[in-house]
Amino acid sequence: MTEFIITIDGPAGSGKSSTAKLLAEKLGATFLDTGATYRAATLAAIMKQADMKDIGALEKIIDDTNFKFDSTPGQMTVKIDEKDCTEQIREPEVTQAVAFIASVPSLREKLVKIQRALAARHKKVVAEGRDQGTVVFPNADYKFFLTANSQQRAKRRSAELTAKGHKINLDQLQQEIEKRDHTDKTRDTAPLVPAAEAVIIDNSEITLEQTVDEILKHIEI
Ligand code: C5P
Repeated sequence: MTEFIITIDGPAGSGKSSTAKLLAEKLGATFLDTGATYRAATLAAIMKQADMKDIGALEKIIDDTNFKFDSTPGQMTVKIDEKDCTEQIREPEVTQAVAFIASVPSLREKLVKIQRALAARHKKVVAEGRDQGTVVFPNADYKFFLTANSQQRAKRRSAELTAKGHKINLDQLQQEIEKRDHTDKTRDTAPLVPAAEAVIIDNSEITLEQTVDEILKHIEI
């Protein structure tokens, strides 16, 4: 039985993952990275050379692929047909193609099922994504929505990618983030919006620790 679910939603680079990880660690909870399910489905489609506009083919890929998601402390590990793809799902090629899957209702439904099943395996869950408080866990115990200006978010993403050896053009990255925000906010299904009861935290000017402290102020567990 699940004891509590806390949702953290927000746009790319808003610090959701780092915040959710640290919060989960402090609360002895499991960190559920739902972006990883969209990324894994996208990577599976790329590996199987699917036509990204063929919804039927993508549905079949999600149904027929053996995805294994495991929440280990600090990160979600991902296996696709027994192959460890934990790092590969973060590659820019996957990031650029993920909207094909994230914008299709029937595909989202399948991934939401996977996300709920993953949460059901754990007692204490911190779920991070775009629609966790609105669609996936509408009855969550606490809901948060993180945001930051796009310049800050581009800087954070740039630091992450540079550390992995990618060459980065900051302006281009900021433009890509703004484009992805726009796609996420304006899609018909599960758009990126805060749940009505979510606490909204702008962390442009505060650190990760301060963001987690701010969240903890709202939680009584
Ligand atoms: O959070 P992350 O950058 O890994 O998510 C990758 C993409 O997956 C996002 O750009 C978004 O389009 C999609 N996504 C989503 N709903 C979620 C999590 C991620 O649509 N709950």
